[in-house]
Amino acid sequence: MNIVIPREIATALNILNYNGFEAYIVGGCVRDSLLGNAPKDWDITTSARTDEISICFKEYRTINTGLKHGTVTVIIQGMQIEITTYRIDGSYTDNRHPDTVFFTDKVADDLQRRDFTINAMAYGKNGIVDLFGGISDIESRIIRCVGEPDERFGEDGLRILRALRFSSVLGFKIEKNTEESIRKNKQLLCNISKERIVSEFNKLLMGLDFHNVMMEYRELVEVFIPEIRIFNDKEWETILNSMKHTDSLVLRLALLLNETGNAERILKTLKYDGKTISSVGLLSSCRDEQLIPDKIAIKKLLKKIGYDNYTALIKFKAAVFKARGHVFFNELDVVYEAEKAAEEIIADNECYSLKMLDVNGEDLIGAGISRGMILGDALNELLDLVIEGKLENKKEVLLDYIKNFKLAVDK
Ligand code: ATP
Ligand code: MG
Repeated sequence: MNIVIPREIATALNILNYNGFEAYIVGGCVRDSLLGNAPKDWDITTSARTDEISICFKEYRTINTGLKHGTVTVIIQGMQIEITTYRIDGSYTDNRHPDTVFFTDKVADDLQRRDFTINAMAYGKNGIVDLFGGISDIESRIIRCVGEPDERFGEDGLRILRALRFSSVLGFKIEKNTEESIRKNKQLLCNISKERIVSEFNKLLMGLDFHNVMMEYRELVEVFIPEIRIFNDKEWETILNSMKHTDSLVLRLALLLNETGNAERILKTLKYDGKTISSVGLLSSCRDEQLIPDKIAIKKLLKKIGYDNYTALIKFKAAVFKARGHVFFNELDVVYEAEKAAEEIIADNECYSLKMLDVNGEDLIGAGISRGMILGDALNELLDLVIEGKLENKKEVLLDYIKNFKLAVDK
């Protein structure tokens, strides 16, 4: 079994070996290489302690990333490489993180603390170290705990969600004992910080097999999003189907949570980032917005929410209608017409925002409108009239109109 390793990583392994230490690439990068996928990052595990790692790489820039956990980051030709001492995790009193970690001289110990067989392989100069049947599980496309599932989930409840995440991303089935233990121990997810949950859940949602995983393990998602309990099986399936029609995380979240009527609050509780919360919130607030393929109506909506949100809304509506099937075929046609009309508006550079108006605040002040509220009202009125086709978007036309507007205000 031969894995192609980037030159910088090979350099790091060679330096450690040359200094008398064992060193391997480990975890996700070994799994992904065996699968023929390009690894996202390359982690190194070694018998060297952190002070010894620092000495080995004294010619290079190093960062003491997590000395307590045995990790030093070494920068080789611009590449940041995390090198971690073999370790055993101590006892877990809170199902979250080990109270202590112990360093060890045996790679076997380090592999044993890892979550799943496919993530518990190392590869070094003598080839692959596969103590738990990781290669065979990759071949059979199976997620299986290293050791006793109950024990391993008891140590760290996040592993329950990680199993689902890997199942979704890789399209692997979860092995029977591991699966039973997941269902039995699902409440352990309550002890896990929202940030850790969200990071795994986002990867699950973007996985190629998210639909099947969320169908089979709905009860697990309910542990951290209890609001989805209101859906019956048919509704749940329709929601998941709608999510297949987009590959944007924001849209998948919006589609997942839309019908709860509480999308924004749910995301806040889960401590999602502000940008995701506001994008999903905006889509939910527009969910009853009728998309009328009429240019004036579209320009008004573009004025209100902007072009990027408008295109997101189009995709959102299209996904909802597609999932519902042919009964609502006309609605889908309307969405496409609205999309086409908006594209024409953009292509023709038709005015729908204050920025595109041929006059700005300064021009109006020059024409005698005072600063403050009235200035904003005047600009908005001009924009509405331009959108409605009642005024041409030309400076002299707009200023001419504004003189009358000023007369009316002054009266
Ligand atoms: P990705 O490609 O998505 O980063 P990964 O396998 O590298 O996947 P990470 O979360 O980066 O996943 O973790 C790196 C490695 O550390 C894993 O492959 C696994 O061996 C180990 N690991 C990570 N989290 C846990 C955990 N909660 N319990 C046990 N081992 C873990
Ligand atoms: Mg990783």
